[in-house]
Amino acid sequence: MSAQLLDGAALARTLHGEFGQRVAVLAARGIRPGLAVVQAGDDPASQVYVRHKLRACAALGLRSELRQLAADAAPRALFDAIAALNADPGIHGILVQLPLPPQFDTALVQEAIRADKDVDGFRLSNLGGLVAGRASFPPCTPAGVMRLLEAAHIPIRGRDAVVVGRSNIVGKPMALLLLGEGATVTICHSQTRALAEHTRRADILVVAAGKPGLIDAAMVRPGAAVIDVGIHRRADGSLAGDVDFASVRAVAGHLTPVPGGVGPMTIAMLLANTLSAAEGSADAPLPSSRESLTHA
Ligand code: NAD
Repeated sequence: MSAQLLDGAALARTLHGEFGQRVAVLAARGIRPGLAVVQAGDDPASQVYVRHKLRACAALGLRSELRQLAADAAPRALFDAIAALNADPGIHGILVQLPLPPQFDTALVQEAIRADKDVDGFRLSNLGGLVAGRASFPPCTPAGVMRLLEAAHIPIRGRDAVVVGRSNIVGKPMALLLLGEGATVTICHSQTRALAEHTRRADILVVAAGKPGLIDAAMVRPGAAVIDVGIHRRADGSLAGDVDFASVRAVAGHLTPVPGGVGPMTIAMLLANTLSAAEGSADAPLPSSRESLTHA
């Protein structure tokens, strides 16, 4: 058996087509969605991710803006940049590219972003909403995984889902979204004993550990859907995930490739959240609406 590949790049392209219609509707209301990316330092992987995000915005006709700070910038400079973007009505979404250099308190920085512009969904209020099953902005990578599962008609309700990784940006929100759709969810992490005993039970296995080749065929239940969130650059420049692709492909029922699986879906969900933020701003009651009646 050879797993069916879950083509995130193709699904993302389809979604971008749908987003184009939403952009057109907003344009008719005089709104051009805007996304600002704030980056501190010159981490090479972050630079690649930021470039991809800005390129995706440009392709869709969104306004995008990069605020680049030096690696040794003072925390004040970052908070000032966020405050300016919070106040800019042409910017509907703000994301701070992680990881930040050590002088920044990442949690505090994330809290500084206005809740209705938090398109990465990392603020505590948004994560709390996720726990309650009503996040305003589902975190992009886990949301992208859910869309991939949905598009491939992979059943979730009542299935055993195992998430490897418990970060606030991938593992935990991933587990909550799967739980919300009725899966029985196990979260594994670096302290988990006998990892394979858990992963082998999974109908849906999502791996976000940041450890190349952590999951091999012996750790996968035959026919399982395996989602590889990991991204690693090999010495020869090629990309690999947390899953040993060649061996797992022979056992799994579905498998995401790296690249071309989760990565493009993360960007698609960032665009989706930015459009939702812009639509939310358009739907907000305008203080000028009564005025315009008076002046009509
Ligand atoms: P992280 O380092 O914050 O978290 C890794 C998690 O994996 C931790 O909770 C840790 O306990 C767990 N872990 C580490 N070693 C383990 C082991 N041997 N067994 C079981 N669990 C283990 O990383 P993150 O930010 O969650 O990202 C995880 C991976 O996903 C990284 O490779 C990252 O580059 C990638 N990523 C990809 C995308 C994308 O769009 N494709 C987005 C975000 C992150």
